[in-house]
Amino acid sequence: MNKLNLAKERKSGPSEKDFQSSVGFLWSVGQKVTQGKVAPSRSEASDDLSSILATFNISSDGKKGADRAIDRLLEVGLWDVATHPNTSGGPVEVVQLAPEYSDFIDTEPQWAASVVSAVLTRFFPGPSKEFLDNIGLEGFARGRLYSSLLPQTGEWFSKRLGISAEYGGDWVRGIVRFEDGYVSAFSKTSSPYADKVIQSTGWIAYVGDGLYGDQNLISGNWKMAECQDQRIPVRFWRGDDKRGYRFETWAVIVQRRRQWGIDKYDNERKEYVWVLAPVPSPDVESWPISIRDALDDDMAKFYDETRELVGEDVEGFVQDELEVGLRGLVESYACLNSRASEAEMVRRATSTTRKIQDYFRSPSARKAVMQRSGGRCESPECLGHPYERSVNGDPMLEVDHVRDLAQGGKDVPVNMIALCPNCHALKTRGENKDELRKALVKAARDKHQKLISG
Ligand SMILES: [Zn+2]
Repeated sequence: MNKLNLAKERKSGPSEKDFQSSVGFLWSVGQKVTQGKVAPSRSEASDDLSSILATFNISSDGKKGADRAIDRLLEVGLWDVATHPNTSGGPVEVVQLAPEYSDFIDTEPQWAASVVSAVLTRFFPGPSKEFLDNIGLEGFARGRLYSSLLPQTGEWFSKRLGISAEYGGDWVRGIVRFEDGYVSAFSKTSSPYADKVIQSTGWIAYVGDGLYGDQNLISGNWKMAECQDQRIPVRFWRGDDKRGYRFETWAVIVQRRRQWGIDKYDNERKEYVWVLAPVPSPDVESWPISIRDALDDDMAKFYDETRELVGEDVEGFVQDELEVGLRGLVESYACLNSRASEAEMVRRATSTTRKIQDYFRSPSARKAVMQRSGGRCESPECLGHPYERSVNGDPMLEVDHVRDLAQGGKDVPVNMIALCPNCHALKTRGENKDELRKALVKAARDKHQKLISG
């Protein structure tokens, strides 16, 4: 997996020392609740702990981290040192959970499980089965882990301020971390940047943090990257102007993309898009197989569409090539066409994420077709392209696939055509749509060939 170096680059939340001590504490509870375990000597405890810290990439300094954690646990009184006779009768010093905590687990197991859950979810949101097994808490914690987590799905809040007052996190940001350690992603239906649902899967294309300018992998977007990397689910919230915000669902991040978008001030900018798949709970066991497959398939790869179009390519789809003339158009078209073809090969190489790939169209393919069209409808049977332009100054054109992606059509210029709204309607629902489609296939191919061989 494309691991981020979390131990080094962690920018917020608990320190590495806190993580190490919390593992030590959890591990000692695990020792206590796992039957047949006797208290370990200090060096055994240190070996065991440092191996867990290394396995789960929690410590950057190996054994030192384990020893520091043990010192700290002894210092605050969560652990204590006792002298036990060893097998040959001699005294041996052991470290263990202090008696008052140990007794508490015996007398109030439910309460103890809640405390353990709180520590677990604070430091290790969405702990894996493997992690729970390693610290000996699989049986004790599983099943009780998430029932005490608040808020619960479906809850409404009238104001963002109220949510942060109760659960923590900055109330003006789109992506925040609550005090329980989980990240929340907020979306607003009334905003022009409302996040979209990918029809075929029900997954959500969530635009990252930052209302204007290029988005970078910092702040909220960094938090999302951490969650994607470690497969930690996030809370997805949807808000509207009337009722406020609703915690709609838990979701895991199945893909990270970057694409061109329009910011708050109507400027082109690079933005992150996180593809979120809703899941019933943070418990990995509850996630549908299709989602787990998508996670395995994706391997936290990064799809950067902004590499397909650079700099001034992005602005003005049509006006500029009228100035560059036919020669410039031929060069530009060939270049965009080859970038679109490369992107298409990447798209074809994946299977499970294909549905996501189909949703995100190649910007260079679209740009190439717009250039090819010269701002006019490309249908040979067009009865009249409107001369009026759209509100943002672009020609009234819709770029469409001649053969649908769902039917195996490719997202490349030769399979695409720019149509006026009228021809687009005829292609989709006209009574002669089948014949029209044939004519469009030919028109797209001819226009494409002419530019490519020109
Ligand atoms: Zn037309």
